[in-house]
Amino acid sequence: MSFDVAIVGSGPVGATLAALLARDPRSRGARVLLLDRELPAAAPQATDLRVFALSRASERVLDAAGAWAALAASPGALGAYERMHVWPERGAPRSAGALTFDAATLSEPNIGYIVENARLQWAALQAFVAAGGVVQSAELRGLHFGPSGVTLDTSAGPREARLVVGADGARSAVRRLAGLGAEVQDYGQLAVVANLSAQHPHEQTAWQRFLGEGTLALLPLASGECSLVWSVPQAQARRLLALEPAAFEAELTAASGGVLGELTLRSARAAFPLRRVEVPRYAIERCVLVGDAAHMVHPLAGQGVNLGLLDAAALAEVLAVARREREDPGALRTLRRYERWRKGENALMGRAFDLMNRFLAFGRDTTGGLAQRGLGWVDRSMLLKRLFMERALGLAGDLPRIARRG
Ligand SMILES: Cc1cc2nc3c(=O)[nH]c(=O)nc-3n(C[C@H](O)[C@H](O)[C@H](O)COP(=O)(O)OP(=O)(O)OC[C@H]3O[C@@H](n4cnc5c(N)ncnc54)[C@H](O)[C@@H]3O)c2cc1C
Repeated sequence: MSFDVAIVGSGPVGATLAALLARDPRSRGARVLLLDRELPAAAPQATDLRVFALSRASERVLDAAGAWAALAASPGALGAYERMHVWPERGAPRSAGALTFDAATLSEPNIGYIVENARLQWAALQAFVAAGGVVQSAELRGLHFGPSGVTLDTSAGPREARLVVGADGARSAVRRLAGLGAEVQDYGQLAVVANLSAQHPHEQTAWQRFLGEGTLALLPLASGECSLVWSVPQAQARRLLALEPAAFEAELTAASGGVLGELTLRSARAAFPLRRVEVPRYAIERCVLVGDAAHMVHPLAGQGVNLGLLDAAALAEVLAVARREREDPGALRTLRRYERWRKGENALMGRAFDLMNRFLAFGRDTTGGLAQRGLGWVDRSMLLKRLFMERALGLAGDLPRIARRG
């Protein structure tokens, strides 16, 4: 069987794109294949330590993909958070130098939702399958481009498609096999993650401290626990991972400035390497990249998957228009519309988070000191606060139709 679109990678971005294509009435009749080498066989039972803070725009995209209703109906899957509180290394958590974003400022019910990666992926996969999509457990090993299609060499045999989409993460095989280069900047940091309980309630607030040598975030989970993302230089991360739980908890509580009282581990600890990946070209004839395959950003602003979901929505829109106009989905001029739409925005965000990492998370020099003091200044400017919040919620910018308000 030949497919119109073959998507490699069923992470949150690939699975959402697949569901959007399969459900969009304008794409009716399109044959979509989604393949992954680590396809989940059943609904997730265990806790996934990788969690995302989803923006309002992501909520809308997932709603259009048919995944949001299932998440909302699943007890404890979505943890709404109403505030974000950020403070610098030198300064008490609730001092005048801190910055607070409150959903009420924008008359929004919340800033967003914390969700586990595995639950999000499963909800999107189910929506895709329910819409008639084909899912295949297989690894991509090679790509052969022809004039009217592309052959995917997979561990389950060859598959033919008119377009292959690389949604296969930061080390994308599609990107490599298609000869699409990437500029990779290794931050030399690891993000240490774990679930925690805190002495005091998290108050539906995401707490974040810039440490001078990294960033510490406590994200409020629906269960009442917090998800820790502690990004520090590799050697320090390895030392933290090797500590006995009690010693780790004591260091963590101190690093958090005691904002939620004593913090206690409720899970094992895991770590993720941090890199910035910028890809100069997202598309060639018959091949295009989305999500972390196209851009990987520092997680300190919690935007990686949000950018990827906007890629998915933009590509789905471009492909739906192409189908209505009876254009070839793999034609470069079609794919370039998507590339022009998303590449500048993703690169801009990646660089902004890079600067935040340099001057807010690691800045102990004069510039860093000024940047950290800037948190308090932003807090006192309603205009700047609104601008930052609208960006973070995904309410601003050139959004795909399904991600827009109303
Ligand atoms: C510590 C940490 C915290 C983060 N927090 C946030 C946050 O709060 N908010 C946010 O928006 N983002 C966050 N991010 C970023 C987020 O994790 C990524 O942006 C997101 O996972 C990217 O999704 P994706 O679907 O593009 O890729 P992935 O999730 O990497 O999925 C890629 C898929 O491709 C499959 N695959 C790979 N190679 C092959 C192959 N050859 N053949 C077949 N299948 C293949 C893999 O099995 C996988 O399922 C965080 C990242 C880190 C490290």
